[in-house]
Amino acid sequence: MATYTLPELPYDYSALAPVISPEIIELHHDKHHAAYVKGANDTLEQLAEARDKDQWGNINGLEKNLAFHLSGHILHSIYWHNMTGDGGGEPLEKDGVGELADAIAESFGSYAKFKTQLTKAAATTQGSGWGVLAFEPVTGRLIVEQIYDHQGNVGQGSVPILVFDAWEHAFYLQYKNQKVDFIEAMWLVVNWQDVAKRYTSAKERANTLLLAP
Ligand code: MN
Repeated sequence: MATYTLPELPYDYSALAPVISPEIIELHHDKHHAAYVKGANDTLEQLAEARDKDQWGNINGLEKNLAFHLSGHILHSIYWHNMTGDGGGEPLEKDGVGELADAIAESFGSYAKFKTQLTKAAATTQGSGWGVLAFEPVTGRLIVEQIYDHQGNVGQGSVPILVFDAWEHAFYLQYKNQKVDFIEAMWLVVNWQDVAKRYTSAKERANTLLLAP
């Protein structure tokens, strides 16, 4: 079986400046994201050992660690591609993201209301967490999730398509305690082409959830 690997950044460390400083991107990717990849692989090894020895004393801790590190790896892998130095603005049909723009308007009432909801969700995360725009496959609507750590408060089956990292490591070196300023600046680097691609992909595989086989 394959193990988890740290993906390359799709740009250099300075590509998102001045919204996010090169120092933050380097530490965030090379140290924090790398730690989640290692944590997920280490936990898989520990679970294999537990199965081999038939020793289950730490099963609760191991399952919790797997969910934490695996989710951290997945969310960060999406996060890097959700951003671009040429991003920002409102998603519009003329930019080839009309289907996503329509889905946002249908699900939230308007782009402005969606933007406010995701900003509030991300900026008010208690402790460490994320604000996430997700595709919910049962109704086909888009929803905002306020995720605790990397794995808590998730609607099962939902697919993250735009993720705002609201952990302090994502902004503190540059924005200090002004989390809301960081989240508001994040809108300047959103890569709507990437979000639209993820929306289409999530929609295409929505019927694989088999809620009613
Ligand atoms: Mn992070």
